[in-house]
Amino acid sequence: MATTVSDGGQDANRYRAAQLGLTRLLVRDVRGLRRLILPSRLRESIPDWMTVMQAVIDQYARTSAALGAEFYDGQREAAGVPGSFTVPVADPPPEGKTESGLRWATKDVWDREPEQATEAQQQPLAVRLEQAEKKAEQVAQKLVADTGRATVIDAVRADRQATAWARSAALGACAFCKMIASRGAVFAQDTVRFEAHDGCHCGVIPVFRGQRFEPSPHAAEWARLYQEHAAGHPGSQLAHFRRALAEHDPNPLPGAF
Ligand SMILES: [Zn+2]
Repeated sequence: MATTVSDGGQDANRYRAAQLGLTRLLVRDVRGLRRLILPSRLRESIPDWMTVMQAVIDQYARTSAALGAEFYDGQREAAGVPGSFTVPVADPPPEGKTESGLRWATKDVWDREPEQATEAQQQPLAVRLEQAEKKAEQVAQKLVADTGRATVIDAVRADRQATAWARSAALGACAFCKMIASRGAVFAQDTVRFEAHDGCHCGVIPVFRGQRFEPSPHAAEWARLYQEHAAGHPGSQLAHFRRALAEHDPNPLPGAF
């Protein structure tokens, strides 16, 4: 029985890489769908584009959930947990959630009265479409990644043999994700909330009964930097931590995954 589990190491990295690979395919598909938006017929073509986007996001979300379930099974087996357990695979995002995300992504595409238009809304249509497409990529990525994360979190909640979960952040994750990942397996079994932002590739690591959580060397270093430079300091602790990372963290800063 594996008695320790970590946010780092081969399993966590491989799982994050699988979800990241899925994201890359998703973004490629989302870019290809851009051609469905006809600049001369926005009112007619954007709803069609949204319908197709919804279907693509659902499909990728199902794959993300399947990867999450497979990862959970593997971790459970590696931990030598007795008894069988069937991972409740999370559903793709509800229709309304995807729709509102895509509406947000395309909100600046519509023509406005010049006096009411923001700077973004005054740009040429081609620029606004470009921005909308980028936002749609972010919306799609988060919805898909969240489905995989929800699958692991739901499994932890349903599995009597699971006790907690930890966040696994990449070496190049942002300060926010590193800050939370540095806390280790502090998310009790019934914690539902996973705070993610667009472009977040963090994973969820289940912890099982009898296992001891051991932070990866990089998470331990983030925790040390946080304690030394942010904890208890006046002002925004995240801002202090971000500065400490910029100065002391040997790993690539945001931008790299
Ligand atoms: Zn993250």
